[in-house]
Amino acid sequence: MKIMKERSAPHLLTVLQILNNRMALSTDHRLKFLNMKKGYEGEIYFDRLLKDCIESECLVLNDLLFLINDSIVQIDSLVITGSGIYLYEIKNYEGEYIHKTDLLRSSTGYELTNPLDQLNRTVILLKQQLRFWGFNLAVKSFVVYVNSSFVLYELKSDLPVVLSGQIPSHLSQLNQSRPLKKEHHYLANKLLQVNLEKSPYNLRLPDYSFDTLKKGITCISCGSYDILLTQRLSSCRMCGHQLSLTEMITSQVEHFNILFPTKQITVQTIVQWCGEDLSVKTIRRVLKSRYQMMGGSKSRYYV
Ligand SMILES: [Zn+2]
Repeated sequence: MKIMKERSAPHLLTVLQILNNRMALSTDHRLKFLNMKKGYEGEIYFDRLLKDCIESECLVLNDLLFLINDSIVQIDSLVITGSGIYLYEIKNYEGEYIHKTDLLRSSTGYELTNPLDQLNRTVILLKQQLRFWGFNLAVKSFVVYVNSSFVLYELKSDLPVVLSGQIPSHLSQLNQSRPLKKEHHYLANKLLQVNLEKSPYNLRLPDYSFDTLKKGITCISCGSYDILLTQRLSSCRMCGHQLSLTEMITSQVEHFNILFPTKQITVQTIVQWCGEDLSVKTIRRVLKSRYQMMGGSKSRYYV
């Protein structure tokens, strides 16, 4: 199994994660953040199962985004095998739902759109694109519910739905595939070429400013501000995560840079950003060692 495109956390999730530590998010943004985080965790879990179960030769492309016939197509996981293409829409839902044609309904009456609709639309568009490129490959698609606490009642057995407990046996079927040919590698590269790096949707971020965000050093693992700093090491008192002091400061600078990509990185700003927990001398040493120095002595900044 060869991973042609790794999965990485969506930019919006990273931003919301940092902001969630440093300000009170609105209910909408907090919900969006928690949903995205959960969805991403589900995808990572699926990736791990894929790695564990697939022994045959295949090409894996994660997190694809295309524009096909003016429509946005998003694919969580695409596996190219010698016997065809497998598309996976991954859901990390919890709770008990009844499977209806166009939606999933919880016992309390809460409704979710049925991911099969979205998946069917994706398959139609992808097949169009493949035909346009001259490929004649079978496409199989599945909605995968990765959470073991998710129960789906009234699910017809002929639907392309894989529940948590069925994932390993489903994936092991892919091991029966024929060997890959040159055209499969060609297709993988073709898909990578047309993949969009950024979603064309403008997702609205919360309003925030440097002055109003909470300052201080936060643990990159759990977000806690309860960090023990020694000369060389930083350790989180909440989760025990340890980093060298240099790595810790660099992570705080990176967070600053993600939230404020157009603001200059200066010693004073980073001292302030870290909540004055670290000396000017220490911050300067790390910035000098990790970034390129720009500007004169009076207007020094780092890139
Ligand atoms: Zn921690």
